[in-house]
Amino acid sequence: MNKQILMILKACEFAAEKHRNQRRKDPARTPYINHPLAVARALAEEGGVKDPEILAAAILHDTLEDTQTTLKELQKAFGRRIASMVAEVTDDKTLPKQVRKQRQIDHGPKKSKGAAVIKVADKICNLRDLRQSPPKHWTVERKGQYVEWAREVVNALPIPGHRIRRVFEREYASTGALNSPAASSANLKRRTSSRRGISNG
Ligand code: NDP
Ligand code: ZN
Repeated sequence: MNKQILMILKACEFAAEKHRNQRRKDPARTPYINHPLAVARALAEEGGVKDPEILAAAILHDTLEDTQTTLKELQKAFGRRIASMVAEVTDDKTLPKQVRKQRQIDHGPKKSKGAAVIKVADKICNLRDLRQSPPKHWTVERKGQYVEWAREVVNALPIPGHRIRRVFEREYASTGALNSPAASSANLKRRTSSRRGISNG
């Protein structure tokens, strides 16, 4: 069997085991593993990404942030490059949420290409979830704020012409109905202050 296929299957098994007790935030409590699998598939099918290490890192992308998995464990099982891409898309959970969110924008320009395409596919899948199976109790305003923040994160990444970016733009455009007038004015303020953050940073 082709080594790269085996590595991707190993990543599926590893992530499924790590996320086994977790659910998405939608009312049906979809098994968490569906999300990283959707991210990897979006990268391959819609983004044209063929690099098996990037696809494996996409499958593993939430293991450091959301499970007990360590960087060493990933390095040992999948090697340094895959582990480092996963680390690059992992928030520092010791920081307050708003700081983490701003960091995703501020640190965007320094991301490797592999980490950047995974980040974009992650946001695409989360916007799809917001349309199709949103978290319980989220208001229209909260969804709108998430959509605008996701766009700021994506715009800061150093892959302007990549196919996955165009997929994101289409997804962003189709979330228009999520944006109430109230959300739009709040978003405009956020967008303006974040832009200042990027140009100063
Ligand atoms: P959260 O970080 O709390 O939730 C979004 C994350 O949840 C996604 O990035 C995704 O992360 C994960 N997720 C799991 N299930 C789903 C699903 N079904 N659909 C979409 N995402 C899912 O959200 P934010 O803090 O970003 O909240 C958005 C905005 O709302 C913020 O800008 C904030 O200002 C505002 N807010 C409002 C509150 C309110 O009560 N009105 C409270 C807090 C924030 P992953 O890919 O890692 O799984
Ligand atoms: Zn994710």
